[in-house]
Amino acid sequence: MDTLFIDGTWQPATDNATRTIYCPADGSEVGVVSEASAADAERAIMAARKAFDSRVWVDTPAAERGDLLIKVADEILRRKDEFARAEALDTGKRLVEAEGDMEDIAGCFRYFGKIADSHPGRLVDAGDPSVLSRVAYEPVGVCGMITPWNFPLLQAAWKIAPAVATGNSFVIKPAELTPHTTILILQVLDELGLPKGVGNLVTGDGANVGSVLSSHPEIDLISFTGGLATGKIIASAAAEGVKKVALELGGKNPNVVFADADFDAAVDNALNAGFMDSGLVCSAGARLIVEESIKEKFVDELVRRAEDIVLGGPFDEAAETGPLISREHRAKVADYVRRGVEAGATLRCGGDFGPEKLADGCFYSPTVLDNCTADNPAVIEEGFGPVITVETFSTEDEAIAIANDTDYGLAGAVWTSDMGTAHRVSARLQHGTIWINDYHPYIPQAEWGGFKKSGIGRELGPTGLEEYQQPKHIYHNTEPAVTGWFPQKEHND
Ligand code: NAD
Repeated sequence: MDTLFIDGTWQPATDNATRTIYCPADGSEVGVVSEASAADAERAIMAARKAFDSRVWVDTPAAERGDLLIKVADEILRRKDEFARAEALDTGKRLVEAEGDMEDIAGCFRYFGKIADSHPGRLVDAGDPSVLSRVAYEPVGVCGMITPWNFPLLQAAWKIAPAVATGNSFVIKPAELTPHTTILILQVLDELGLPKGVGNLVTGDGANVGSVLSSHPEIDLISFTGGLATGKIIASAAAEGVKKVALELGGKNPNVVFADADFDAAVDNALNAGFMDSGLVCSAGARLIVEESIKEKFVDELVRRAEDIVLGGPFDEAAETGPLISREHRAKVADYVRRGVEAGATLRCGGDFGPEKLADGCFYSPTVLDNCTADNPAVIEEGFGPVITVETFSTEDEAIAIANDTDYGLAGAVWTSDMGTAHRVSARLQHGTIWINDYHPYIPQAEWGGFKKSGIGRELGPTGLEEYQQPKHIYHNTEPAVTGWFPQKEHND
């Protein structure tokens, strides 16, 4: 299948290169996609530039741009089975989880559709009645978008929806392992009438194609979701061209449990925080920080329940969580666990590749590393797998200090039945999202993004729309007059 979408046409890579996509649950072939080259990326960028400069989409009324996005939301829900199956096959995640993702994705398109015309600009009091001063919010221009493999279409939606709402053109590069739902969404945008060249897609890898997006002079904004190491490469490539940069990077997210928390809810949510989607969630609650007095009982129960989690592929109805994305990624997780144990952590459960019958897939059992110290690499690094590390605290100040002792700052939770504790701790945690007595929910109306090395900028919410706009001050003197600043001089020639 030709999967490059450039200037309104589906096409193969210039050298006809392709990549086969495999399902990580069993290694079966999912499909074959075009493998773009740097030259293809360049063509896609120039198509987006031409479309932007033509003003075809910028000059479309914002409310009409919003209507298109609302239709996209409806179409995703109408074709939910097809979209969810494609996502489940690419990622190996359970179909039911992929279906949930599609609901969220439709919600994102609907939200940005509704607020597309909400931020046109404002009048400013210039202090002079003859001056009309206004600040207009204009699209940034050509946006490069690079997305990861864990929530392929969700991460794409968080970028495409606000960019399209505000009149930009874009080129998107999905993760090379999970391209199929991004292909589907470009088809939908095209079918619903997005003008040609406004949305472009290049399926290809990071080094050859992603690097062109982050360094090309015709890209005005690069929006990236992925790992910290890649984020740094992209930020420095973008710095050369002084591009706008939006980065959604990793996390090392604390889940702080006080002794007065609802025990059953806290244990249940700790499992969910760490093992949902096999821990392949940037905001996964991978650092359990539990009050010393309940630690033993809490971790015993956590381990008991973790050992019961059933692994399986997308269509196995008994499965409770799926595989990792690839064997390479699993090897990294296994190495991360090995180093954690070597540094003194106690392996309480997991640490293996799951049942023998799943040997064709990239499974890794839910793992709990107990008795961790702050200097353990498993506590410091993002493992990005189904691994929870356990640390303890005795006082509120200590809990906060441990939870903030990380380079990352994406998300975190506090569990307590005391409202004062909840508010004091949530105010002092240096993370972009804080849950109190919950874990994982997010809503498109609220900003998402990281403190510290978890990123730059915000997605979702009104700020997520504004990321794709730039303010322009227009100062109109309705009564032009001579200033007298440089007095006119008489010349006798
Ligand atoms: P990754 O950084 O390896 O890859 C992400 C994307 O970057 C892929 O499309 C890849 O092809 C591309 N890429 C790789 N090298 C590149 C380069 N040199 N130039 C340009 N593009 C390049 O990340 P991943 O392994 O796909 O995803 C996992 C990471 O993403 C985790 O760290 C996770 O925490 C993070 N993540 C963050 C969020 C968030 O909202 N903050 C959401 C999802 C995932």
